[in-house]
Amino acid sequence: PAQSMEELVSLCKRRGFIFQGSEIYGGLQGFYDYGPLGVELKNNLKAAWWRANVYERDDMEGLDASIIMHRLVLRHSGHEATFSDPMVDNRKTKKRYRLDHLVKDQKPDVIARVAEGIGESAENFPAVVAALVANPAKASEALIAAGVRDPFSGEVGDWTEPKPFNMMFRTTIGPVADEDSYGYLRPETAQGIFTNFKNVVDSTSRRLPFGIAQIGKAFRNEITPRNFIFRVRELEQMEIEFFCVPGTDEDWHEKWLQARLAWWEAQGVPREKIQILDVPKEDLAHYSKRTYDLMYDYPTLGYEEIEGIANRTDFDLGSHTKAQGELGIQARVEENLDSVAKLTIPHPETNKPVVPFVIEPSAGVDRAMLAVLSEAFTKETLENGSERIVLKLRPHLAPIKVAVIPLARNREEITSVAKAIKADLQRLGLGRVLYEDSGNIGKSYRRHDEVGTPYCVTVDFDTVGKGEDPSLTNTVTVRDRDTLAQERVKISELADWIQARLR
Ligand code: ATP
Repeated sequence: PAQSMEELVSLCKRRGFIFQGSEIYGGLQGFYDYGPLGVELKNNLKAAWWRANVYERDDMEGLDASIIMHRLVLRHSGHEATFSDPMVDNRKTKKRYRLDHLVKDQKPDVIARVAEGIGESAENFPAVVAALVANPAKASEALIAAGVRDPFSGEVGDWTEPKPFNMMFRTTIGPVADEDSYGYLRPETAQGIFTNFKNVVDSTSRRLPFGIAQIGKAFRNEITPRNFIFRVRELEQMEIEFFCVPGTDEDWHEKWLQARLAWWEAQGVPREKIQILDVPKEDLAHYSKRTYDLMYDYPTLGYEEIEGIANRTDFDLGSHTKAQGELGIQARVEENLDSVAKLTIPHPETNKPVVPFVIEPSAGVDRAMLAVLSEAFTKETLENGSERIVLKLRPHLAPIKVAVIPLARNREEITSVAKAIKADLQRLGLGRVLYEDSGNIGKSYRRHDEVGTPYCVTVDFDTVGKGEDPSLTNTVTVRDRDTLAQERVKISELADWIQARLR
């Protein structure tokens, strides 16, 4: 695996996985662009998630809801009131920080003084942050007295009172910009699933339990985006809302936890690199009865959240439904006089309408990319003493499945055979097959090691009957990325050979 974030960032840029967004104008913080190989890896990863969670199960449907949503959706979901992070300003530098990030990055003795100043134990960091947020005036004093430094200037800051900062992006809809003509870019894909619950039930005649899966962009105006694609302002999520009979929710929560861990393992993220955080009650989001955060051991960052698996109870459907009073909703919900739909489904035993409970496994595509790249990243010393970087990606994730390389790029008899092989392999539908005549076979191999291409197929003079060994006519050399073994394979058997190893 990668030893540092730096070596990953460097590989991603050098080989065309990930670029800074708007880079030629100085870049835009918190936005990234996926390059020629990044888009392939990302598509493969999303396809693997979709296969496992929609096609291979019999209790799931898919959805692709719109990104811009009615403001009432985000009002009744609770996001207008509560989707915020605490921010604090330094009066000296005019820099603004997310409070918990600012404190966490201080030296241990500074953190200890902040904790003492606000009357909490430094051992319990979330409690320290909660106390700072709850007592803004005291918080400002505590930060200044403890000598909290500004990461930008390195000097002790003059800190304001922390204030909540709502992270939703608002945008104007239509030609007239008045008070009512705005909507929100969704901060999570989940809300599109809840608002379509009735549509999906009515159009598919699903009964409980069943789930809806969605992959799509979400937007969060993070106060301090950082750590490459770990914390960005435009992100992509892979989310499931699994609807079940109240009372069976805890059981389903455990099942989804196991299913998700198995999926990560199949993507090359081993179980031992993930810690399960059973989120303490006082840190739970307002809608959650219990949440497991899957914490992956990121290079440089250490254990950070890659996926959250939450028991959201009947909070969401209960918040978005009409006729709330008649439905026996268990969660504490705000009154909703705007919704026109009753979000219930017949109880499978009694047939009485019920608002189901929801288990939500929510994973970030960008954080998944980072984990998969990090696990695949390998530095090896070869027998001849030279070093190589190789991305040992699972074949189903590899951006390029096979590279077909003619040994001489200006010999038509060789290039035409190579092009025909490329076209044949491409038709197998395995993903991208690349014809590559850059000219230097050593460089090609090195490049394909670094981008994780499982197999390189080389067409040479022997292939076309112009080499030393006539028995090699109509065969090609196949080089294995991981073992470096080179094998002569008959062209007529190549498709089967590759397919057997990549399927
Ligand atoms: P954090 O505490 O790290 O800000 P969160 O608890 O707000 O994350 P959730 O709201 O649970 O995150 O979102 C579900 C998933 O979406 C996360 O597990 C993560 O993979 C992804 N995600 C959330 N925010 C971001 C972001 N700013 N950049 C990239 N991925 C994100």
